[in-house]
Amino acid sequence: MGLVLKNGRLLNLETGEREALEILIVGESIAEVAEQIDAADHETIDLNGNLILPGFLDMHVHLRQPGFEAKETIETGTAAAARGGFTTVACMPNTRPVLDSPELIRYVYEKTAQEGSCTVLPYGAITKGELGEELTDIAGLKAAGVIGITDDGVGVQSSSLMREAMRTAAALDLPVVIHSEDEDLAKDGCMNEGVVSKRLGLPGIPGLAESAMIARDILLAEDTGAHLHVCHISDAASVELVRHAKSRGLKVTTEVTPHHLLLTEAIIDQTDASDANMKVNPPIRTEKDRLACLQGLLDGTIDMVATDHAPHTEEEKQRPFQTAPFGFVGLEIAFPLLYTELVQTGHLPLHELVKKFTVNPAQVFKLDRGSLTVGKVADLTVVDLDTERTITGEELKTKGRNTPFMGKTVQGWSVLTINQGRITYQGK
Ligand SMILES: [Zn+2]
Repeated sequence: MGLVLKNGRLLNLETGEREALEILIVGESIAEVAEQIDAADHETIDLNGNLILPGFLDMHVHLRQPGFEAKETIETGTAAAARGGFTTVACMPNTRPVLDSPELIRYVYEKTAQEGSCTVLPYGAITKGELGEELTDIAGLKAAGVIGITDDGVGVQSSSLMREAMRTAAALDLPVVIHSEDEDLAKDGCMNEGVVSKRLGLPGIPGLAESAMIARDILLAEDTGAHLHVCHISDAASVELVRHAKSRGLKVTTEVTPHHLLLTEAIIDQTDASDANMKVNPPIRTEKDRLACLQGLLDGTIDMVATDHAPHTEEEKQRPFQTAPFGFVGLEIAFPLLYTELVQTGHLPLHELVKKFTVNPAQVFKLDRGSLTVGKVADLTVVDLDTERTITGEELKTKGRNTPFMGKTVQGWSVLTINQGRITYQGK
């Protein structure tokens, strides 16, 4: 007995056409896609004309477990993912303890099997404890199932250590995923360095702290043959560096967050840095940087959208701007925000946006996901493009309430998410 999805429209990601097709799911897989499927022996769900998309992939999520369960757990983070239409998330290793050993990678897989509402693919740390001093057992991490290595949260400051990590990763065919931040340039900055930080008298993080590190790592990737994936790109010079690297045929890929595509440091200026829910790293930058990120997304320099979902407790985010932790939640609102702000406004067609959430991350990380054809894993989400809804704290499944988009009204919400044939979210 299977499940038939009736009365939906399947978005063709090549042409952008919406096709009236039914889908039969049996077990974990898609068994049939056709104009009409005999549902006599199956359960059915009426999709009310809504749009069927491949389940989204988010290659940059902080699930916070183990160690920071007050902020988020694998259970709550993956429930938030499912509500946001995501069926695969890659989780960052800056937990406590840091995911720097095969045992801890196995812990993430086991916990996800018990409590998860989506597929979770862990990254392993580059250096032990993310301390930047000693490399982890990268081969052991790979054998335990990591999909890449990263010290996300901090940059690897030592160039020789990073070179060694890239050599090892290249031999193992593992992506090296970089949080690009030169600490000597970033110092104790808490927002973008520029006219706003000067006016507010707050220490700034220059765009150069990001771009200089990206430049170093592109050269190291060329030297070692590693696949370099640049996290949460935010700065115009950084986008140009990646564009140039790609034009030279280097294995360099990158991601951008919804907040770097939609916001500028004006949000901090207008509120005199009174609200740490606007504090994130890399910081929200200038309109020039925002437009460079948008252009990079449109021309393919930027491969994918990633949320950098980073929940914190309300107590932590109520601290003064300078001492509160960096980070926004993003899983549940990423697609509606970008559908509303980029597709509805005509910046890019819907199917191009959907690719940034599906086939593109799947291709970059060599995952057999992002396609809804017979025989593939039944990972999908059904989106109601029309109903407007305001982002409020109440309906969020994540423990975090830290988003600068609170109160915003957007459309494009998932109403049904299926992961490996299992319904993981169903809403209005
Ligand atoms: Zn990061």
